[in-house]
Amino acid sequence: MDNTTHGDRRITHWLGGKPWTGTAARTSDVHDPATGAVTARVDLADAATVDETVAAAGTAFTTWRRTSLPKRVAVLFEFRRLLAERAPEVAAAITAEHGKVLDDAAGEVQRGLEVVEFACGIPHLLKGGHTAGAATGVDVHALRQPLGVTAIISPFNFPAMVPLWFAPVAIACGNTVVLKPSEKVPSAAMLLAELWREAGLPDGVFNVLHGDREAVDALLTHPDVASVSFVGSTPVARHVYATAGAHGKRVQALGGAKNHMVVLPDADLDLAADAAVNAGFGSAGERCMAVSVLVAVEPVADELIGKITERMATLRVGDGRRGCDMGPLVTAEHRDRVAGYVEAGVAAGAELVVDGRGGPVDGEPGGYWLSPTLFDRVTPQMPIYTDEIFGPVLSVVRVASYDEALALVNASPYGNGTALFTNDGGAARRFEEEVEVGMVGVNVPIPVPVSYYSFGGWKASLFGDSHAYGPDGVHFFTRTKTVTTRWADPRHRGIDLGFPQND
Ligand code: NAD
Repeated sequence: MDNTTHGDRRITHWLGGKPWTGTAARTSDVHDPATGAVTARVDLADAATVDETVAAAGTAFTTWRRTSLPKRVAVLFEFRRLLAERAPEVAAAITAEHGKVLDDAAGEVQRGLEVVEFACGIPHLLKGGHTAGAATGVDVHALRQPLGVTAIISPFNFPAMVPLWFAPVAIACGNTVVLKPSEKVPSAAMLLAELWREAGLPDGVFNVLHGDREAVDALLTHPDVASVSFVGSTPVARHVYATAGAHGKRVQALGGAKNHMVVLPDADLDLAADAAVNAGFGSAGERCMAVSVLVAVEPVADELIGKITERMATLRVGDGRRGCDMGPLVTAEHRDRVAGYVEAGVAAGAELVVDGRGGPVDGEPGGYWLSPTLFDRVTPQMPIYTDEIFGPVLSVVRVASYDEALALVNASPYGNGTALFTNDGGAARRFEEEVEVGMVGVNVPIPVPVSYYSFGGWKASLFGDSHAYGPDGVHFFTRTKTVTTRWADPRHRGIDLGFPQND
């Protein structure tokens, strides 16, 4: 496969309701991970383009914030209809640049769609409180008002879902949006921009700015950006939180993860094995909610590993457009990094039960392949345990008791998701209470909250106090104003320099 001849397609920024007309000083290649071919070049914004985009979003804010709720909701309903209709197109764009299999890409769009549905209920969600008679002749009410220009910075692994965690809620609340998608997967964001326009969203309310660190840093320090919603790796999340916070912005920065799935001796081991394979290798392990550590509470390990390896032998790895179970990794560099962890695991003394290197593939030789890999007898000191690998590598840690399993999960610096497999309701109830993780599943391996709850981890998996979408999303994208009202009443006339006494 020629790796350079398919890159004539140019992807540029979307601002003020149309493609940017300037010339970018820097661009980045976009690859099809299943073939290794360059399929497009994406423009990378500099600080001047960031200024231009934020200005377009700022202008749109002055009218969008005053647009009536029924008009905003009409746009959201239409966007929902269009997104559902065009979901296959969005999914195809995701598979072509990320590599995940088409079904999984369609599932990602569906999850995003559910947040749009949540945002359609915005009139109810924006209701403030009202108190009549807080004092004689005094009423108090609270308003929720939009922030202004909100920035969304998203990772490569969910090109549509992560932007849709934030944009529908931000827009419904009356804000305008500058989305900076991952430069590895820029096309899904462009499709979303087109759908918003077709849905009748005024120009400049939803903008897409492509770029890398330069664009991100310009957004984090821009005086006219009111808030930053970031999702990505923990080191960058920390940087985003610190920088945007120092520049006075409201920030939510979701970081990386190392999710543990604990299997107790009384669990249904077939269910647990299915869950471990699905959550360990789905999307090639490139999910922030992927299970990367399986904590087997003895004596289950041998039987559970047997069931997992049987299932792994049936997985078909290959091009996501060919009905395979698992696609390639996102880039050649990332595939090599993950393969490096397989080597590191062996060197550290873990037992390599299934080696994914060089496994059979239904795809082009130039694709970024690495098949599912399973390690047993992993210990908490090994790099395959401590580091977020973000690939199809599952590590089994054997422990002797529930308490040891819980201590392991709670000692992790991350706290995104976790799951317990058991048939013991009392153990499940204890786990739910004691575990220091933001999202917990009981016999559910990837406990992503439905759209009317909120998504977010604890510890190094989230910086800030607001989770994504759901009630936290509305809280994040609005600020509260409390109004105390008194209409003139002759009894209250007169000078009184004291603090008013409630009467
Ligand atoms: P990343 O941190 O490399 O990139 C995320 C975004 O930040 C991208 O838009 C990228 O262009 C930008 N960026 C990259 N380096 C930067 C830098 N030095 N300064 C400023 N901006 C920078 O993450 P990724 O590789 O795209 O995504 C995978 C990571 O995202 C994993 O760690 C995964 O766990 C995490 N993730 C977390 C969640 C969650 O909900 N907690 C969800 C999805 C992904």
